[in-house]
Amino acid sequence: MRPFKYVRARSPQEAAGLAGETPNAKFIAGGTNLLDLMKLQIETPATLIDVNGLSLDKIEATDDGGLRIGALVRNADLAWDMRVRRDYGVLSRAILAGASPQLRNRATTAGNLLQRTRCAYFYDPNQPCNKRKPGSGCPAIAGYSRQLAIVGGSDSCIATYPGDMAVAMRALDAKVELVNEKGETRTTPIAEFHRLPENTPERENSLKAGEIITAVTLPRPAGGTQIYRKIRDRASYAFALVSVAAVVAANKVNIAIGGVAPKPWRNESAEADISKDGAKRFVSALLADARPTEENRFKMALVERTIESVLNGQGG
Ligand code: SF4
Repeated sequence: MRPFKYVRARSPQEAAGLAGETPNAKFIAGGTNLLDLMKLQIETPATLIDVNGLSLDKIEATDDGGLRIGALVRNADLAWDMRVRRDYGVLSRAILAGASPQLRNRATTAGNLLQRTRCAYFYDPNQPCNKRKPGSGCPAIAGYSRQLAIVGGSDSCIATYPGDMAVAMRALDAKVELVNEKGETRTTPIAEFHRLPENTPERENSLKAGEIITAVTLPRPAGGTQIYRKIRDRASYAFALVSVAAVVAANKVNIAIGGVAPKPWRNESAEADISKDGAKRFVSALLADARPTEENRFKMALVERTIESVLNGQGG
């Protein structure tokens, strides 16, 4: 690990300001992904801005009947919160399907959103990787890609967003709240928070220099049946090959999928077809622009079967 400076921020505005004015700075909260990357020298920040002292660790009701989840709420606290378990069951289940109890006790809401891909080439400094070193190439496209994206990738990168929590948040129409160094707040739908790689796979989200995530907001509960089904190579402590977050209400079905794209993947306009035509037509629209590799083509069928199992009421 390379030497770095360490500073503690006292307010979100100060943290955002420090991030904007300090070259090569990173926020640290739980550190469950960042510290691994620093040990491997994949991430080499000159300064770490510790945000653990900010008062962003509350889960509060909003005026419109929803929930505001502070950026520093630990994953375990969010998953076990009674309001989340009762009204947003898909979110609780998704979080508990990820990582391990120790990691969930430490990892935060914002850190979970910002976690980086687990592409094996990204983690190997001896390999080229456009995401780690722009312009160096992407060996995954013709190489080991079993875990990687079938849709949403580009000729530059086919990495997947690896998390579970954000997939459920996408199905729940969550919004991400951010503050800049002037104290100005902006809110973005989670659908627009994570970016597709295109020609700049090193840019993974819409967080700007001089901004910090302060919260994620959920709309009023949608009710219905809420399921998170995660298919992976072993039963625990593994990233998804395919995951499905579903909110199945009386007259509306929201489905987001994980493990298949650089961001939680959803096609709202196709969701109206689910009840009329079953999953096949919906999945065709959901994966319309898919470009699987030979190694991960199996995910095409796996998505369809997993969605069908969820629509038949099988959680997991
Ligand atoms: Fe790097 Fe993305 Fe290619 Fe993986 S898929 S090697 S992260 S550029």
